Amino acid sequence: MIYEEVIELAKRRGFFWPSFSVYGGTRGFYDYGPLGVLMRDNIVRVWKEEYMREGAVFIDTPVLAPQPVFKASGHIDRFSDLAVECPSCRSKFKLESVLKRNGIGKVPLNVEEANGVLTSVEVKCPECGARLREAYDFNLMFPVQGKEETLYLRPETAQGIFVNFRLLNNVARNRLPMAAAQLGKGFRNEISPRQGLIRMREFTQGEVEVFLDPERKEWKEIPDYEEILFVPNTGRPVRATPRDAFETGIVKNKALAYFILKTHRILTSVGIEKGKIRFRQHEKEELAHYASDSWDAEANLDDEWIEVVGIADRGTYDLSRHQQFSGQPLTVTVDGREILPCVVEPSYGIDRIFMAVLMTSLYTRSNGFRVLRLPPHVAPYHAAVFPLQKKGLEERSRQLFESLQAKDPYIYYDESGSIGKRYARQDEIGTPFCITVDYQTLEDDSVTVRFRDTAEQVRVQAKDLLESSDLLSFLEGLWKSREAV
Ligand code: AMP
Repeated sequence: MIYEEVIELAKRRGFFWPSFSVYGGTRGFYDYGPLGVLMRDNIVRVWKEEYMREGAVFIDTPVLAPQPVFKASGHIDRFSDLAVECPSCRSKFKLESVLKRNGIGKVPLNVEEANGVLTSVEVKCPECGARLREAYDFNLMFPVQGKEETLYLRPETAQGIFVNFRLLNNVARNRLPMAAAQLGKGFRNEISPRQGLIRMREFTQGEVEVFLDPERKEWKEIPDYEEILFVPNTGRPVRATPRDAFETGIVKNKALAYFILKTHRILTSVGIEKGKIRFRQHEKEELAHYASDSWDAEANLDDEWIEVVGIADRGTYDLSRHQQFSGQPLTVTVDGREILPCVVEPSYGIDRIFMAVLMTSLYTRSNGFRVLRLPPHVAPYHAAVFPLQKKGLEERSRQLFESLQAKDPYIYYDESGSIGKRYARQDEIGTPFCITVDYQTLEDDSVTVRFRDTAEQVRVQAKDLLESSDLLSFLEGLWKSREAV
């Protein structure tokens, strides 16, 4: 399983590991280590820049919010999962996963239906084998007791945007359509946290709320794009361009189709293999309480399709609820009409994307060595600098490293162990280029540049690296010209 390999590599090399392990760990929490922090920033940058190009405005709001916010949003009353508790060993499970393990694919809609299933079929506790009998609603919100009031950790970043709609729209010069985005932590008291970064209790989301005129649910024209795999909730999976998917009615709303395209572009740009991405429409029963239609971007990880981004049509649900509960008008005037905007929301799970990138990039060479084929702009380091051997080359290589680091801080220096080991260490963390100072460097100031994906090397003048306007682009240029030969 790639999953286990990634978990082992991530911990050993410092991408991520379970939090609080000195105290035995707490399920559902992970720390990003030194390499993980760098790589996550790179993924976030791609997301952010793609939405900057859409003219989105960004905001940063508190992770804690007072009760009325989540009363209005419906999370306090409706943001729950069906759960079961084993009467014998007292373990708690998400009903859906226990049913799946017992070969029951259809998810009950409510407690009554769930109890009907548990009465008619013998469903066993995955821990001790006792029969499970009773389901209940388990709210996923984390309450926090303040001095005078109960606050809640936000289960999504979106509400911070909705409650600020007026101010944001004002800053955006009352424009509609308008997109507002927020990157930040979300908290869900998941019943069964699992699979590393896939289901955590604290995680990072990049959410974009696209406010539209309900009479014109479109953002921009859908550009030409390649075919992608759609799995509609009626009919068969189909490959289509996003524009065709809209025009043939597979995707009902033009803005949804536009952001499906955008999401595909972001996911492939950060390094998730194209063949491992699909867009699946939610079944009606699966829809969140605020959504009327929803498409998940899913990545195929170890033969299981995992949601990494949710793209939902939230209609006017959130703004109308906040307008009703706060008593503040949230309408805008468009062409003389007073309207309450509707919302299309692409919501990116940054940790799941991170995990999917690692899982789809890891590759084992025929010699058993592992390589992370990360896109260069996503890898923690752009390049590493080494002396071929320490003796006689240390000073020159350190000097080159320091000059290059002044240009590009994302480079790494290593002089310990054999050169083969150093290359292998960089391959394993995805560093795309290794620059080696050897004895010829002392004669003609040339160095070798080694490419991670083929282990080929070319010689270049150190001066060309130092004088390049951008080191990474220069190195990528070398790689591309090799490919072209
Ligand atoms: P949702 O609001 O449930 O559609 O979530 C939006 C995105 O957040 C999902 O597509 C996931 O990538 C991510 N996400 C949701 N719940 C979790 C979790 N418990 N742990 C990690 N990521 C999550």
